[in-house]
Amino acid sequence: MKPVFEKPFTQQEAISEAVIERIGDILRSGRLHRYNVVEGEEAEATLLEREYAAWQGTKYCLACTSGGYALQLAMRATGLQQGDAVLANAYTLAPVPGAIHAAGGQPVFVEINDDWRINTDDLAAKAESSGAKFLMLSHMRGHIADMETISAICQKHSITMIEDCAHTMGATWNGIRSGNFGTVAAFSTQTYKHINSGEGGLFTTDDPYVAARAIVMSGSYMLYGSHGAAPNTEIFDEIKLVSPNMSGRMDNMRAALIRGQLAGLDENVSRWNSRYQALERTVATSPKIFTAKRPQQEHYVGSSFQFRPKLAPDLFPTLLENCGKRGVDIKWFGAAEPKAFTSRYDSWKYLGEQPRLPKTLDVLSTTCDIRVPLTFNEDDCTLIGEIIVDEVKALYT
Ligand SMILES: *Cc1c(COP(=O)(O)O)cnc(C)c1O
Repeated sequence: MKPVFEKPFTQQEAISEAVIERIGDILRSGRLHRYNVVEGEEAEATLLEREYAAWQGTKYCLACTSGGYALQLAMRATGLQQGDAVLANAYTLAPVPGAIHAAGGQPVFVEINDDWRINTDDLAAKAESSGAKFLMLSHMRGHIADMETISAICQKHSITMIEDCAHTMGATWNGIRSGNFGTVAAFSTQTYKHINSGEGGLFTTDDPYVAARAIVMSGSYMLYGSHGAAPNTEIFDEIKLVSPNMSGRMDNMRAALIRGQLAGLDENVSRWNSRYQALERTVATSPKIFTAKRPQQEHYVGSSFQFRPKLAPDLFPTLLENCGKRGVDIKWFGAAEPKAFTSRYDSWKYLGEQPRLPKTLDVLSTTCDIRVPLTFNEDDCTLIGEIIVDEVKALYT
């Protein structure tokens, strides 16, 4: 009998009793809206902004409704105008091109390398040829590209870098937190990211004008004075009447969920990484599977695992089916139609015809992805790895 894995890939850990207690208090108070405070009280969302800015090491932080919303705000608050070109790595998740589209930008997709990171030569070439003044850099699936090279390209062409840190909350590059290289960083606290508040987004920046515009745009009704990590009021005086309200505030219950998990984030990063490493160690024993070598500068968060079996793409449906029968839920970015989160740049038809990116299509044609929830232990990850190695081998011989 072949071993079968039996846990679900979508099960997150329970919320702690202390947080449940805190949310109970908020519910009993009836003051769920962040601006609904009594004399002398600071809202949970305000406290979160102060704590997250301190944790991330940025001057300003805005709590908002989702990571995708934070990305939209990032472009609007840094001055994107209708029709502006936005460089973006072609391997990303659907909310990223969606945010560019919603903010009025035109994506210019950049090729990726074998290890899923953005190709910096293609980035330099397209920065030159497109004249784009924005880069939406997704640290997709937690893979951080060479940030010194990317920063130099942005500097040379006066490009505003926005970092999509949905998969790198808690990660660093050369000792600097992911998110602190660009002008703005956007984080998600949606259930499958590194902090689980169901839905939620965090926007960080060191630029006072960008912060002020984002706060007003998020729907602050001139109550920006009560924010937890905001610039001083003179900055708001300059921008408040020319920044539209595009409601996307965070409520106090979600803020309590995030605050309650922030203290444990660094420990969870280690827990993710020991699981990731058990999986990667096992899968890397197969000569028939490519896994990414993580650069020394990168301190990653292994909350998902990518690998590329060296099989013809037409064998992948069988591989997925065989692994699925043994309880291993693999997502594949090579299918003609996206399934779950596996869409590719050529799936986003609303953007119109895009130039062909042969390298990205080639890499994604064999890219497999699995989630690594903390409800798995290291033995689980070893077993998953063994099943993958086994089933790839079965298709080879
Ligand atoms: C989840 C995700 C987002 C958006 O986050 P939401 O909070 O779901 O809007 C953006 N980029 C990437 C790469 C993501 O995985």
